Amino acid sequence: MEKKHCTLCFECELFKGNILIPEDITIMYKYHYCLNSQGRWKECKRFLTKNLFGFCPGFVMPNSLLSLDQIKQKVRVEYVA
Ligand code: SF4
Repeated sequence: MEKKHCTLCFECELFKGNILIPEDITIMYKYHYCLNSQGRWKECKRFLTKNLFGFCPGFVMPNSLLSLDQIKQKVRVEYVA
């Protein structure tokens, strides 16, 4: 059965409100991605990043224009170096 919300809701720092962005932006992301009954959460860049790398850094927003390769590169530079 198709999930009506993102499967990562309970572990996502953005969903839990642990990423410092304006509250209305968080609500907008939840509406358009996390709780979207059409399954749009599968397009969320945080969802895709977590599935690929096993974690998602705070700078990645659901509608990020960065490619997954660009996110990987940024993580290497900022988190591993
Ligand atoms: S921000 Fe993305 S990964 Fe996080 S709960 Fe929402 S849809 Fe899922």
